[in-house]
Amino acid sequence: MDKNTYIPEDFIEDVKCYLPEHLNLDDFIDHCQKPLRLSIRVNTLKMSIDEFELEAQKLGWQITPVPWCPEGFWITRSEEEQANLPIGNTALHLSGCIYVQEASSMLPPLALRSEIENIQTDHYAVLDMAAAPGSKTSQLCALMENKGLLVANEFSSSRLKVLAANMKRMGIANCALSHFDGKIFGDYMYECFDHIQLDAPCSGEGTVRKDASALKNWSIQSNVDISNVQKDLIRSAFLALKPGGSLVYSTCTLTPLENQQVCTFLLEEFAGAVEIIPLDNLFENANQATTSEGYLHVWPQIYDSEGFFIAKFKKISSVEHHNQQRKKGAFPFEPFAAKAHQAFSSYLKKQFKIKQLPGTLMQRDKELWLFPEKLEEVQNKIKYARLGIKVGSIHKNGVRLEHELATAFGHLAATNVHALSDKQATEYFQGKDVRLENPTNQTGEVILTLCGAPVGLGKWQKNKIKNNLPRDLIAQGQLITWV
Ligand code: SAM
Repeated sequence: MDKNTYIPEDFIEDVKCYLPEHLNLDDFIDHCQKPLRLSIRVNTLKMSIDEFELEAQKLGWQITPVPWCPEGFWITRSEEEQANLPIGNTALHLSGCIYVQEASSMLPPLALRSEIENIQTDHYAVLDMAAAPGSKTSQLCALMENKGLLVANEFSSSRLKVLAANMKRMGIANCALSHFDGKIFGDYMYECFDHIQLDAPCSGEGTVRKDASALKNWSIQSNVDISNVQKDLIRSAFLALKPGGSLVYSTCTLTPLENQQVCTFLLEEFAGAVEIIPLDNLFENANQATTSEGYLHVWPQIYDSEGFFIAKFKKISSVEHHNQQRKKGAFPFEPFAAKAHQAFSSYLKKQFKIKQLPGTLMQRDKELWLFPEKLEEVQNKIKYARLGIKVGSIHKNGVRLEHELATAFGHLAATNVHALSDKQATEYFQGKDVRLENPTNQTGEVILTLCGAPVGLGKWQKNKIKNNLPRDLIAQGQLITWV
């Protein structure tokens, strides 16, 4: 029990007004004070679930599957291990094979799983309107198998940086990152997206088990203020959605002001063009958390998790919108010149036996980028902070590869690959050169792996591998991540 958890009286009074009849208030308060179980999601872009289970067994971790998410596991590590090596410093985490993510926060992307799995083409676009730090973005990208296009938007610049770092660690290649108030998407990207996730900014009432002071500034007025932002965002999301597409709205808060009432706003605003897709069958026992409307209202005591709210809608017809806007300014990229393209492809084949990279190579000044296929139709509608991945910088003698090429496509390499030992990995993630046990006569660039997954690039030198980890990913001798 964490008796330091701050639960204001006014909040409890408010909860009494909407706590469902089958749930009990004392139980709710007890669960708010109970520490949260640690859960992770396996990043299937880097490691299979079977491989993770084997690895966890080797490490002596006890794992329990999260019933609603095949990639999710609660994990128990010994107190000693946890104290000596926090989860964020483990090889599985640093390599991007796992993402620390609360079990109930895995639900919103799962609500889009069937849509994504049933798409017959790689040519589709999904929007994640409030994306940082990127747990659900990376979950969606894994469901999309790094295909199609995911536009991940974030309004806060500091959080956008963490989002970008997490995308690199997770080996994501099908993302475009943008930095806007989500309100603009309806105007600038009207009916552009096949599906949309809006994991909205909220008052975070469901997060007290993780953050004992989450309710420190709680007030009904702040709930009302945030709900106005949420209404703007859900309206914008619905306008940006193609007819036939699905919209998943979620929050990690409990009040109907920010949940059911925001959904009601959407249903009224676009009456006739929107319908609820009930979530009572999303997983076994989902009905324990399903509201009469078909939303999931996950109270902490139902599945012993954080509190969450998830609603799913379908856009059944187009809606009028008279305020569509066009971005001004030219598109700063051009296709990579054919001759240089050929030389680059030959280099990848010779050095790594990589036959082809999926996507389109584009050049901006001396930078070489790989765009996801779908990008063309949406690439000039807004200004992106990043488009696809930066694969290299162009020099007069060829292309010098970038870190992201290795993290996203290193698994395609068959030669010049080096598996880091745990000791070498520690050196590498601290930004130091990697010492080799035996001198090598290999030359040129090398892809480094950890837990069987690519983690970056280096350059062979006689007794060591020169470290090419970008400095902006390292803070205080540690890789930037969220945990
Ligand atoms: N989806 C994220 C994940 O799973 O890792 C968590 C998102 S968090 C609940 C909401 C995010 O919305 C925050 O990062 C916040 O900075 C961002 N945000 C706040 N106001 C916004 C706005 N007007 N438009 C877009 N994003 C906004």
